[in-house]
Amino acid sequence: TTAVLSGVALAKEIRAGVTTTAAALAEAGIPPRLAVVVATDDESTAWYVRSIANAAAKTGIRCDVVDLGADAKPDRIRTELAALSADPTVHGIMLQTPLPGGASVEDLAASIAPDKDVDGANPVSLGRLSAGLPAFVPATAAAVLELLDHYEVPLAGRRAVVVGRSNVVGKPAAQLLLRRDATVTVCHRYTRDLAAHTRPAEILVVAVGRAGLIGAEHVSPGAVVIDVGTNPTADGGLVGDVDAAAVTGSVAGLTPVPGGVGPVTTALLLRHTVESASRSTA
Ligand code: NAD
Repeated sequence: TTAVLSGVALAKEIRAGVTTTAAALAEAGIPPRLAVVVATDDESTAWYVRSIANAAAKTGIRCDVVDLGADAKPDRIRTELAALSADPTVHGIMLQTPLPGGASVEDLAASIAPDKDVDGANPVSLGRLSAGLPAFVPATAAAVLELLDHYEVPLAGRRAVVVGRSNVVGKPAAQLLLRRDATVTVCHRYTRDLAAHTRPAEILVVAVGRAGLIGAEHVSPGAVVIDVGTNPTADGGLVGDVDAAAVTGSVAGLTPVPGGVGPVTTALLLRHTVESASRSTA
């Protein structure tokens, strides 16, 4: 049988901790505050930002959505990120994608102060992660590890395969698994014979954005599969990258979509924000 590795209860637990810390901070005169910079009309981005704002409100974090419009120039975005970085009342800063005119998030996020970079988007944060130094880790990659730990999946010495190598998910997830002594393989768009690489995985993390990419032929019995993908369906729903019906019964565990990585990601963004606010008092 395949265990459903839900993230809902874990996210709730994380938010409860955040609520306590946020209240203590507010009491101490440091109300925690997150700023989300948006420069797109994209519907799914708007949906994601609303879910962050709602979760923030519930935990007592002020969340400002700074909408610069879909035609914002890169310099305008940089200026805004720098101003928020300099504002002592702001503790967390996120830059949403997509960005106008194909501007690169890696480039613009360099204007987010690393100590407020709660989604680990500044190349400095990514570099520190690679070097094994303290840094904010991209929330989605952190959520992958949080789920594996929550379900007590051993990592040291085990074969972990990550499919996808983006700076927001695949690469940092691979770094985190490496830090925990897993033997890590990273697959991507140019990988030949994907199934030959994923089948030996004891831990399989999939972050591509292609519904049904991973089927029965890609997994082995006993594998733990973390499905990061979110793909909208025609009927307004959401599915992951893993064909859940095809692998259920074979793998040991699989995160559902929705209700797996997503809620944990949002909860960790809030946790990072109160961590940043707590440090600002020191
Ligand atoms: P991306 O487009 O930046 O990267 C996709 C990666 O997949 C690339 O590295 C590419 O090389 C690889 N890839 C593409 N086709 C492939 C194939 N056929 N075989 C193997 N690899 C292939 O995407 P991203 O930002 O990393 O996001 C990945 C998915 O995760 C998306 O569905 C996204 O919506 C989702 N996501 C979910 C959360 C969450 O909180 N649940 C957060 C971020 C992203």
